Amino acid sequence: MIWTREAEEAVMKAPFFVRRRVRLEVEKEAARQKASKVLLKHVTECRQKFLSGKPIASKGFQIEACFGASGCNNRANTSEDLLAELEKTLASRDMAGFLRERTAGALKIHHEFRVCFSECPNACSRPQIADIGIIGAVRPRVVQKECTGCALCVSECSEDAIHIEPDSGVALIDTSRCLLCGKCIQVCPSGAIEEAQKGWRILAGGKLGRHPQLGKEMEGIYSSSEALRIVEEFLDIYFAQNIGGERLGAILNRIGYGVKS
Ligand code: SF4
Ligand code: SF4
Ligand code: SF4
Repeated sequence: MIWTREAEEAVMKAPFFVRRRVRLEVEKEAARQKASKVLLKHVTECRQKFLSGKPIASKGFQIEACFGASGCNNRANTSEDLLAELEKTLASRDMAGFLRERTAGALKIHHEFRVCFSECPNACSRPQIADIGIIGAVRPRVVQKECTGCALCVSECSEDAIHIEPDSGVALIDTSRCLLCGKCIQVCPSGAIEEAQKGWRILAGGKLGRHPQLGKEMEGIYSSSEALRIVEEFLDIYFAQNIGGERLGAILNRIGYGVKS
């Protein structure tokens, strides 16, 4: 839907972590009014509705992804399949009904369970502050006999995680510095760096609000099926332990972060 410049400017005043959601709500409002484009008044009306505390139309959860699927060259993994599976999982749990029973007053955006995908460690969708953050990861491994020592990977790695070993003349990766972005694999002209493992890093318990915190990362890289199972386990905890519509991070702070990984 086309937006007028005034409407665009107004929606940019919404905090970044709800902006995408606000845009959708404003577009729905414009469509309800059978408008052909989004005007400032649609943004204003949505803002008034939000401030008045009226209930929002909500599924009780939000899944957000970065813009990797639009053709970003930095993608370390692709999230479409996992995203669709997660949408099904969350939709099957009646999150909105569950939250309405536990929250005093209207269901607000900040009550929703948020899952954020980023397809590389640049983390454009802010997975660190979501209930569950999922980050694309690929672990590189140098095939020494293929390496010519050209050092292109050394200059590509922004983490200073690769150097050319003086004795052997081949690339060596410092795994303690590697952020699993896979850029060295892409840049190597000899195909001397292979994908040793590809999957997802998982963070849990991130949130903003009065007591903000970053999600805690689980050790390792997980396949899509493992990631789905881990999210299910966190959801089980969320449903079993939730007292007043609190965020997953608050629950995990109380009971601990252990899930079977
Ligand atoms: S998180 Fe990475 S893959 Fe996604 S849009 Fe940002 S840079 Fe691209
Ligand atoms: S995967 Fe990324 S961070 Fe790790 S060594 Fe390669 S370029 Fe560096
Ligand atoms: S870019 Fe490839 S061939 Fe060149 S040093 Fe790195 S691993 Fe070796």
